[in-house]
Amino acid sequence: MECIFCKIVDGIIPAKKVFESDQVMAFEDINKVAPVHILVIPKLHIESLLALSPQDAELLAQLQMGITSVAQKTGVADTGFRVVSNCGASAGQSVFHLHYHVIGGRELALSLG
Ligand code: 5GP
Ligand code: ZN
Repeated sequence: MECIFCKIVDGIIPAKKVFESDQVMAFEDINKVAPVHILVIPKLHIESLLALSPQDAELLAQLQMGITSVAQKTGVADTGFRVVSNCGASAGQSVFHLHYHVIGGRELALSLG
């Protein structure tokens, strides 16, 4: 298994975990771009947003609640935060296991691109 995030889910690569539910895990990004930078991922290997289907409704609910929980635990629910999922190499996706960046803890620029 070559996927870095699958290895984190399996505990083969260590990570600073901040949230876990039965289908979802969240941990600190190794290369933070802001004081709070957490990755929220499905435990199951799903390549990107494009690989999701209507059958993933429960997983999507857990991912969303994971994002909310991370925002509350880290304090950015009060101060503001951004959620980003890069889809495809041209958009900056470098790990091909679906993940949502939760970024906050400082003033964020308005630019999205
Ligand atoms: P992407 O570029 O695919 O949107 O985001 C991948 C993110 O994964 C990057 O922000 C990168 O810093 C993070 N990352 C890559 N390898 C590791 C790792 O081994 N551990 C952790 N915690 N984060 C990683
Ligand atoms: Zn994976």
